[in-house]
Amino acid sequence: MSELGFGLMRLPLKDPADQSSVDIPQLKEMVDMFLDAGLDYFDTAYMYHNNVSEKAIKEALVDRYPRDRYRIATKLPIMMIDSPEKAESVFEEQLAKVGVDYFDNYLIHNICGEFYSNMEKCKAFDLLKRKKAEGKIKRIGFSFHDSPELLEKVLSEHPEMEFVQLQINYLDMDGPIASRRNLEVARAHGVPVIVMEPVKGGILANVPDEAKALFEARNPGMSPASWALRYVMGLDGIETVLSGMSSVEQMRDNLSFCVDFKPLDEEELSIVDKAAEIINSKVAISCTGCRYCMKDCPQDILIADYFALYNSEKANPPKGWSVPRMYYGNRSKGHGLASDCLECGNCEMNCPQGLPIIELLKDVAKTFEN
Ligand code: SF4
Ligand code: SF4
Repeated sequence: MSELGFGLMRLPLKDPADQSSVDIPQLKEMVDMFLDAGLDYFDTAYMYHNNVSEKAIKEALVDRYPRDRYRIATKLPIMMIDSPEKAESVFEEQLAKVGVDYFDNYLIHNICGEFYSNMEKCKAFDLLKRKKAEGKIKRIGFSFHDSPELLEKVLSEHPEMEFVQLQINYLDMDGPIASRRNLEVARAHGVPVIVMEPVKGGILANVPDEAKALFEARNPGMSPASWALRYVMGLDGIETVLSGMSSVEQMRDNLSFCVDFKPLDEEELSIVDKAAEIINSKVAISCTGCRYCMKDCPQDILIADYFALYNSEKANPPKGWSVPRMYYGNRSKGHGLASDCLECGNCEMNCPQGLPIIELLKDVAKTFEN
């Protein structure tokens, strides 16, 4: 039976325009609710929330509860690592930032094509094994956003990996993300899977009205997000499903069905298939909002925000003036416009979804800047 984990990538914010403005009082309330429900797994990363997620969870959880009351995972930010020494110093910095003596799970973050060879060069796998031997990590693994072929290679070359974190949701099972085949590879290696992006960055929480109507007709009052979570929690080989909850309300909704979790039945699974068709026909850009692309943008373009606004605009095409257009005008003040893109490609190298960001920004500019 899989469990719900608290993903710390989309925390409540005091100012929606500032990713580092985590609303600590609300986060504390969410932490309390989560622990009171008998759950205890928290997943953060160096880069989340402009590098403040690890500090936020120290304040909301680590400083307030005994160490045996929770399990915590964080990740080696491979985008920042260029030598074994740097990897070592970042790891020690993370222990201090989170305020713990050991991590329950520690992952190499976002293994994909070019980063895999870089990790070998920087001896990241050796670092994890060494820190485990020193008692500073309980279990070692990696998060992964690439092909089943590369996953097969990594797991074959590193049988010491004890778990893998994969993007799995009902929209990505058979598309370019290849969730189903990646899950099969992990299972063939006997490696437990932790699921990330079960709600695909919120896309499956805010489904089109037609899909919502299908869900409502079968289970009145059950949120679209709960359908998405129950779907992945019912798959074989899943240890934990991370939900990036952003408010007390979302926490309450998730806890309402995940604690006494029931997998989807046959009829519900066929409704999910129909909903996936509807959603696929409406989502213009499959951006999960992870924001990895924005870190090295020389023009400070709010790529994830602009894509979210673009999706809203396309889901409900307006006759004239539109709310997303107004937001685009407001949000872009003090940042680069989509049309300011220099086509340097830094963003595309970091996008786990493999999106053609440069081309998509041209569509965004055409839509909002005329
Ligand atoms: S390609 Fe454009 S959006 Fe991407 S990092 Fe470069 S300037 Fe920014
Ligand atoms: S464009 Fe890619 S990297 Fe950027 S937020 Fe979306 S999914 Fe993440």
